[in-house]
Amino acid sequence: MKDIKENYKNKWMQLPRNVVVGHGVISDTGKVCKDLKLNGNALIVAGSSTLHAAGKTVQVTLEDAGFSVDVAIVADPTLDEVMKVEKISNEAEASFLLGVGGGKSIDIAKLASKHLDLPFISVPTAASHDGIVSSRASIIKDKTTVSEAANSPVGVIADTAIIASAPYRLLAAGCGDIISNYTAVRDWELAHRLRDEPFSEYASIISNMTAKILIESAEAIKPGIEESAWTVMKALVASGVAMSIAGSSRPASGSEHKFSHALDEIAPKPALHGEQCGVGTIIMMYLHGGNWQEIRSALKTIGAPVCASELGIEEEYIIQALLNAHKIRPERYTILGTGLTREAALKAARITKVI
Ligand SMILES: [Zn+2]
Repeated sequence: MKDIKENYKNKWMQLPRNVVVGHGVISDTGKVCKDLKLNGNALIVAGSSTLHAAGKTVQVTLEDAGFSVDVAIVADPTLDEVMKVEKISNEAEASFLLGVGGGKSIDIAKLASKHLDLPFISVPTAASHDGIVSSRASIIKDKTTVSEAANSPVGVIADTAIIASAPYRLLAAGCGDIISNYTAVRDWELAHRLRDEPFSEYASIISNMTAKILIESAEAIKPGIEESAWTVMKALVASGVAMSIAGSSRPASGSEHKFSHALDEIAPKPALHGEQCGVGTIIMMYLHGGNWQEIRSALKTIGAPVCASELGIEEEYIIQALLNAHKIRPERYTILGTGLTREAALKAARITKVI
């Protein structure tokens, strides 16, 4: 009997229940919360500018639906801000949280709701990275950004009219974060073959296909077009689902993410997460022996950075980041192995025209 039991696998998948994407859907927030059988007090977590752009609308629709609403204004995603939100939530006796913003407020609300054991709804106002759907929160700890385990949002409300009116640079960065699935999956396959790391065929296929569809749609992703916001949001949701199936960020985060995190640590003025991941994907795809030219040209078509100068980062920091990247999350095996030599890093960056 024992043997049979041990042969059975157990698997937990946590997925958002309601994902609502489209024009003007922010006005349905109250309705979505009702549909999710939420009740009592809502706590909106937003930055001061997003509160005016979208938070107020969220507040009105929640009040119209009969919820009482409190608001927590937050700044950078630090643990102090997370604790501040927890305190406000306890005082307001909130029964669920809504993160309204481009990413920071969502990360803060996500982690606070995990600590408070309350449901959380993600209301992104920009589509710049896949954290708006995932169960991981990027939080600043001791001046470095770490990825903390949290819960998936129970609902995602992505208003494409709002997302399309956000600065285009954010949407283009979101594309970089999605395209990075390509090398993340290759790294995962490598870790599976070399380190016997558990691998999910389903998660990897969804993640790869998401990057593929986005690359094929590159021509259609343009500033000010709501359809573009729609395409990118769908891809971010699909990436989030792939991560939920895998139970980790593996399908969407590999060597290119390590490179981006290494840049965050050393560059005086890092670029956006998705922008750095996009450039990282070009280099890592070259190291994998894959079609890095396809990645580069898709990013170029979209209008995302493809080289050091477009990132606004000096070339030496790019090389340093390539040399340091393997030390970030060392347990996550990637094509970087135990590290690149300076010669290899220079060669990879030059061939791919990143420097
Ligand atoms: Zn990312």
